[in-house]
Amino acid sequence: MPPPCSRCASQRVINLETARKLGTAAGALVGSVKGAYTSLYAPGGLITVSARFPLSRIASAVVAATSGGVAGAAAAHQLVQHLFPPGEGTPWLCLGCGYAFRVLD
Ligand SMILES: [Zn+2]
Repeated sequence: MPPPCSRCASQRVINLETARKLGTAAGALVGSVKGAYTSLYAPGGLITVSARFPLSRIASAVVAATSGGVAGAAAAHQLVQHLFPPGEGTPWLCLGCGYAFRVLD
């Protein structure tokens, strides 16, 4: 059971540790998809380019996906990290009023 919000007593709170993990995974996924997409559909046309340089094109898409994934994960991690209140205990974020607080286990 999550603790009630210490400001508005709402029960609609989420664990920020979980949110950070999910956000990092989602950020990596979004970054990868975006990186692969922009690389494959860059101006110049996929068909003509891939017919001439199929391997280098695929390699650059993989590199873009990897770097995009890392950047996306880092961005998501930073975003959630920014919400973390200072101190000890489990961090929670109230969805009712947006208040972030910690509860000692
Ligand atoms: Zn609240």
